[in-house]
Amino acid sequence: MDQVPETPIRHDLQPLANNDKPRSCFRDPVPELDVAAERLSAAADALLAGDESGAATLLRQAHVPALYDFVQSVAGQGWREHVHFREATGIPGIIEKPARVPLRMPQGGAALAVYERDGYRCRYCGIRIVIPGAFSVLRRRLPNVLTWGTRDTEMNTAMYALKGVLDHVLPHARGGTSDAGNLVTSCQTCNYGKGDFHLAEVGLDDPRTRPPQRDGWDGLRRLLSAARPASRGPAHPRRGASLVQNGPAKPPSNPAADWFAALNAEDSARLRELLADLAELGVTWSATETLVVTLRHGGATLDLLGVNRDLTVEVPWMVHDHKAELRLFAAALAAGIPGTEVYETRRWWRVRMSGRRLALADLLGARPSVHEAFCAMRHALGA
Ligand SMILES: [Zn+2]
Repeated sequence: MDQVPETPIRHDLQPLANNDKPRSCFRDPVPELDVAAERLSAAADALLAGDESGAATLLRQAHVPALYDFVQSVAGQGWREHVHFREATGIPGIIEKPARVPLRMPQGGAALAVYERDGYRCRYCGIRIVIPGAFSVLRRRLPNVLTWGTRDTEMNTAMYALKGVLDHVLPHARGGTSDAGNLVTSCQTCNYGKGDFHLAEVGLDDPRTRPPQRDGWDGLRRLLSAARPASRGPAHPRRGASLVQNGPAKPPSNPAADWFAALNAEDSARLRELLADLAELGVTWSATETLVVTLRHGGATLDLLGVNRDLTVEVPWMVHDHKAELRLFAAALAAGIPGTEVYETRRWWRVRMSGRRLALADLLGARPSVHEAFCAMRHALGA
């Protein structure tokens, strides 16, 4: 008699049980992805032609609610609980404890070169993606339309599904470098679905064995040149900020001013409150979309927490080094904020609340605990 699974299985996903036949992606793209890409492209053209209200209408139309469920079905928190990836043990060539390499993601023109090489399409599933810098331009110009939130009703799903990312084919956490040869353009669904797994572990074939598809799609890169002001301002050294720019002629960029300008007075005051609490830590911006609070220790930079534009918070923001200490930090924070837990899979974990994402207000409501967690973290590192 068949065993009854303890958790419900999603029947709308491709079966993963048979890994003998490698796949190019976890789930075949749906036509709605193309619809959203077309509308985003039309919105970009409208914006470039000076038609802001037309662009706003098209961006609203690009929001296809079903895309939220599509991305979640592969990249959501329930994904790995519903599948049985092949155990790493016994797969030839997989080193379980690889030497750590510094994470040096290509920035600016170097990042754009990878997107360009890949035809601005996900190398796994093949869908057209939009480069992060183009989304930044759209959000800056139309902040009330290209929304971001915790539910499908709050976020513009076109951005959620189509925002491009550079994926480490051999995951960084498993020893992969950030050389262009190990990076491919990916959509959010494929990137988050793959996570820190080897291709063999999740039954994917190597996307680099398929030639990239170049057909004139530009990832809305044309928005970058339009956003470039005529005069050149002071260089800004913030990590990641240059991804918004295009080529060597960098426009004046001040992620801090940009960040605060997009907030209302109350949110702005809240954010300044948090930063005042964490004055001794570093702050950086991830392509200006997320404010990242960092702790430098030895040669490593630990991205402790990230505050997204919608004021949701990711703890930790990224896990590259000092995983054990960051795990302690997350646990200390979760213990101090009611209703939170540390969500953990085999290789990945994050502080979360039941039913919604952690918010800036949650951190501010538990300031002593936050402070204690930071102190404990510094202590653990001897910093
Ligand atoms: Zn994809």
